[in-house]
Amino acid sequence: MWVEWPLERQASCPECGVDSAIYDHREERQWRHLDTMQFQTILHCRIPRINCAEHGVKSIDVPWAEKNSRFTALFERLAIEVLLGCQTQSKARELLGVSWDEVHLIMEKAVDRGLQRRSEAGITRVGVDEKSFLKGHRYATILSDLDNARVLDVARDRKEESLAELFGKMPEEQRQEIAAVAIDMWEPYINAVVELLPEADIVHDKFHIAKYLGEAVDRVRKSEHKGLKKEGVETLKGTKYLWLTNPKNWSDEQKQQFKELKDKGLQVGRAWAIKELFSNLWEYNYEKSARNFFKKWFWWATHSRLKPIAEVAKTLRRHLDNILTYLKHRITNAVAEGINSKIQQMKSAARGFRNFENYRIAILFFCGKLDMYPQKSQ
Ligand SMILES: [Zn+2]
Repeated sequence: MWVEWPLERQASCPECGVDSAIYDHREERQWRHLDTMQFQTILHCRIPRINCAEHGVKSIDVPWAEKNSRFTALFERLAIEVLLGCQTQSKARELLGVSWDEVHLIMEKAVDRGLQRRSEAGITRVGVDEKSFLKGHRYATILSDLDNARVLDVARDRKEESLAELFGKMPEEQRQEIAAVAIDMWEPYINAVVELLPEADIVHDKFHIAKYLGEAVDRVRKSEHKGLKKEGVETLKGTKYLWLTNPKNWSDEQKQQFKELKDKGLQVGRAWAIKELFSNLWEYNYEKSARNFFKKWFWWATHSRLKPIAEVAKTLRRHLDNILTYLKHRITNAVAEGINSKIQQMKSAARGFRNFENYRIAILFFCGKLDMYPQKSQ
């Protein structure tokens, strides 16, 4: 389709809106538009320039596309909808008949629009998590808004600077609104929060803590199993997941397994019991009673003669103040974990990301809950 501006008609200046006569035309440009019937449709136009008394010679705005776009706004809108519907770039690319570069371009612009329109007011509880990309060799730090289950931004690496960069992008007054930050017991993140959000409470994520305890139980199992095997005893064979699964989710088989093992005086049984007991901490309402509980638990854990358990217990005691903040805020990174699984899906569909920027854009596009459509498409 070729579009022309009637020569005799005046057009308005893109800066001030005052009408002026047409001065000349730029060279022809093209925009991919929505298909007509089953046919790919390209819009062609030589955009006229006006000569404004105040602003000089300027190209006029076209109503069908944003500045410097190779697509009409309606096509971009469709592309965004298809991408969100497919949740993967490869499928959307196929359906739309565009190149990889074009997909990236559309996503990048969409995210830019979304970030510019987003209001950061009212974000009070955030979560920070790390995520590997490029087959696990490199890390990214992901900041999410826990109340609205959306990713706020992504930074390279998992250093103190990574998180500082993300907080630094927020306007000061909005940063001060943040009351609690859910993070793992990871020093660089702790330092960044202390430095940039001194008023906010750090809440060490209970799922991370459960993971550490689970790993300790597994280490106990491994070494005990090795010792038993030397004596030709196979009691612990095939029990790995029994000790790592929440008893509420045990299969009948696992319940039976547990029944047979529980009275054998196993080290791993003791480690497991200590881990399970710890989860009672989250049920307390008052900090003082929770502290008393922890004291008792700590004594048991450190006198268990189970080194991996004692080590985790010491780490927990060191961070106890920021663990007990959970009782006040009741937040976890579970939301972030939900986002994580979405990112995981996205990653496998894209077969990894070649660079950080593409990774960041994709996360914000799919998990940012942004308002990304071009204005002219409405
Ligand atoms: Zn003007």
